[in-house]
Amino acid sequence: MSQINENFLKLQDSYLFSTIAKKVEKYIEENPDKKVIKLGIGDVTRPIIPACVEAMHKAVDEMGTKEGFKGYGPEQGYEFLRKAIIENDYKLRGIDIEKDEVFVSDGAKCDCGNIVDIFGPDNKVAITDPVYPVYLDTNIMSGRKIIYLPVTKENNFIPELPKEKVDIIYLCFPNNPTGTVLTKEEIKKWIDYAKKNKSIIMYDAAYESFIREKNIPHSIYEIEGAKDVAIEFKSFSKVAGFTGLRCAYVIVPKKLKGYTKEGKQISINKLWNRRTSTKFNGVSYIVQRGAEAIYTKEGKKQIKENIEYYLENAKIIKKGLEEVGFTCYGGVNSPYVWLKVPNEFTSWEFFDKLLEEANVVGTPGSGFGKSGEGYFRLTAFNTKENTIGAIEKIKKIYKK
Ligand code: PLP
Repeated sequence: MSQINENFLKLQDSYLFSTIAKKVEKYIEENPDKKVIKLGIGDVTRPIIPACVEAMHKAVDEMGTKEGFKGYGPEQGYEFLRKAIIENDYKLRGIDIEKDEVFVSDGAKCDCGNIVDIFGPDNKVAITDPVYPVYLDTNIMSGRKIIYLPVTKENNFIPELPKEKVDIIYLCFPNNPTGTVLTKEEIKKWIDYAKKNKSIIMYDAAYESFIREKNIPHSIYEIEGAKDVAIEFKSFSKVAGFTGLRCAYVIVPKKLKGYTKEGKQISINKLWNRRTSTKFNGVSYIVQRGAEAIYTKEGKKQIKENIEYYLENAKIIKKGLEEVGFTCYGGVNSPYVWLKVPNEFTSWEFFDKLLEEANVVGTPGSGFGKSGEGYFRLTAFNTKENTIGAIEKIKKIYKK
């Protein structure tokens, strides 16, 4: 008899995006004359930047030659990309990362999900609520106890240190879904906590490139002591239009230690390297050449334009909604605007109202966790014209 992993039965079915899609489809079917604008998805809409496209074309041609052909690459990523990551994302910020601390992958989603492999089932895991669901579901799949850390307007979206001791902590900043950020001082508190409790922080910095304000760290390693306690996840998805191409990386410092049941220290880097070499055969050469091009002069200019475009949309959303009395969070260092829905509505009721009266699609906050009830997420991943159009329609309903 084949036995299943029964932890999977504890997962809640995720109906969020399929429910949204069904509701939108039905509305469009019944109202074919209406133009529905989608500000709900977390996927980018601008194409891969030209510098990357060009680099990939070159790499394709290279692969078609006898001299340039490459078979399996290093599981941890080609040296050229790891070097570009170290030089640009770390050295320029005064952070020393070594080559064998970088692991190139096919996405931060996979990395955040796969990392649980190297940790025991008895770890207590702290996860913010609302949250990007991958951290939660992958830990439920492996049977771990979850401690929820509510982030709401009451605590200014700054998670409070847990009252009970936890072993693994997930922090994602700039945050999905709330769009909020933490200052260095706030992150330092978590680093101190992790040191004191021998815990590990999983720091998801997938939206790092959207940070514009000072004193907001671009990497957790900007803060002293972080290399002793933190793994950092980064992604090229939202930076350069890589959501469909797939490329990301993880930093696992060699100083970082986990423990056996007997309390013996073990290198997390070694475990992750072992896991990577066993279960992964690397990201394609072509895609890695594409990712490398993000760090060229042209690439940097193009991603800046890309991100500025989305940030301008976020500004339009935030400003427009605030003008008609909404309280909005995020949207400054993030493509996400998290708004408080009017008191008389639940997140889903507000979804229906926006769809029916403004023909705008967003994401109900309650879909990201219990503490997301009463909130709503709008994203900057649409054209400027559509973003303006959507906000004008919402403003019409709420104009006093
Ligand atoms: N981390 C967060 C917080 C995200 O919101 C997303 C995607 O939406 C990811 C990771 C996934 O990134 P990738 O496309 O690299 O898998």
